[in-house]
Amino acid sequence: MTDCRESLRLHKEAKLLLPGGVDSPVRAFAAVGGQPLFVAEGSGPFIRDVDGNRLIDYVLSYGPLILGHAEESVVEAISEAALKGTSFGAPSRLELELARLVVGSVPALEMVRFVNSGTEATMSAIRVARAFTGRDKIIKCVGNYHGHADALLARAGSGVATLGLPDSPGVPKGATADTIVVPYNDLEAIKKAVRRSPDGIAAIILEPVAGNMGVVPPVAGYLESLRQLTEDCGALLIFDEVMTGFRVHPRGAQALYGVQADLITLGKVIGGGLPVGAYGGRRDIMELVAPAGPVYQAGTLSGNPLAMAAGIATLTALQKEGMWDQAASAASTLAKGIGEAAKRAGIPVQLPCVGTMFSCFFTEEPVTDWESASKCDSKRFAKVFHGLLERGVYLPPSQFESCFLSTSHKERQITQTIEGFEAVFRSPTLRL
Ligand code: PLP
Repeated sequence: MTDCRESLRLHKEAKLLLPGGVDSPVRAFAAVGGQPLFVAEGSGPFIRDVDGNRLIDYVLSYGPLILGHAEESVVEAISEAALKGTSFGAPSRLELELARLVVGSVPALEMVRFVNSGTEATMSAIRVARAFTGRDKIIKCVGNYHGHADALLARAGSGVATLGLPDSPGVPKGATADTIVVPYNDLEAIKKAVRRSPDGIAAIILEPVAGNMGVVPPVAGYLESLRQLTEDCGALLIFDEVMTGFRVHPRGAQALYGVQADLITLGKVIGGGLPVGAYGGRRDIMELVAPAGPVYQAGTLSGNPLAMAAGIATLTALQKEGMWDQAASAASTLAKGIGEAAKRAGIPVQLPCVGTMFSCFFTEEPVTDWESASKCDSKRFAKVFHGLLERGVYLPPSQFESCFLSTSHKERQITQTIEGFEAVFRSPTLRL
């Protein structure tokens, strides 16, 4: 990329007004070096930065844009909704319509509550699980990110991993005192943690396919065993499908692996690029949520008509015959092409791909948990990231973020991206 002067200028100015010049840490490029690009616009699989550089985008706002940028039906739905008023603080038909679509697609989802972010969704699901079981302790996995609520900000992946922070300052010890952290994909560790908690565990929460240390699928039998274990010990199983929902399978990870959770959290795709999260699951549990029950949770902008309209348009388009498959097949073609290019160049790489998500781990060993993910060659990833940027391809600026495909990524962009990887893999600087 030849010219980034305007991005540089804006970032300098932004740093005076916004911490790090950004509103979410990973955007600052800390993991790969250099300075962030300021985006001016997006269309289909492309973004254009403020200096006029056009890039094929594999970030897609960290997952939501499964139809690509500014997809026509989504933009129309948002515009139509906006003309009728942007927020009411009262129920609307749109909430009911999105609830029908989500409940109709996601297994084990009998009732749902819409919120404004994935963070709110997981935080609220934990509260309901604690209320339902009358227990306090929760178990989470190292490298799984569930948003930035205090109780869940322990050994999280995503931006926390990118910045190398084990936990965040400002989180009181008491807030994580009931959070037990175990390695992902390690059934024995969870069993031990359950045995060691005489008062009982309220819930096990996990990403059924981890996506916040890069894409790390569950090992065979892991989810099934967790289902059994939670039933045996009276805890609830919470699948955090904020990222995997509608991405690893048209109906989410529960459908892909044939395992049903008690509570499910959603976000990203169901908001079509607008701020939406959701939590839901068994009716007997969800009926505890206020005003049906005593567990308090509320939101001024929850069920916002613009956000609901974007979600409805996105899920409706995605349900059309062959749509989701297009994005998934683009992901697998791309992962295969990168793998072949790496092999020709003698570069060891692991390319886990599940549905419409994939990751590039520069290592010879398979990645199964946070420990193996963190051993990957992050310096090489950073070089590949910048080499691709020069060639018009925008990957997430961290080894520990997943890459996302959309229905708008066509053969031409996939071929161009594979050629970009091929060229970068052959460049001498990559071998240093
Ligand atoms: N849970 C998972 C699995 C996520 O990937 C994320 C965000 O990336 C969250 C929760 C938090 O969502 P949000 O950023 O919308 O608060």
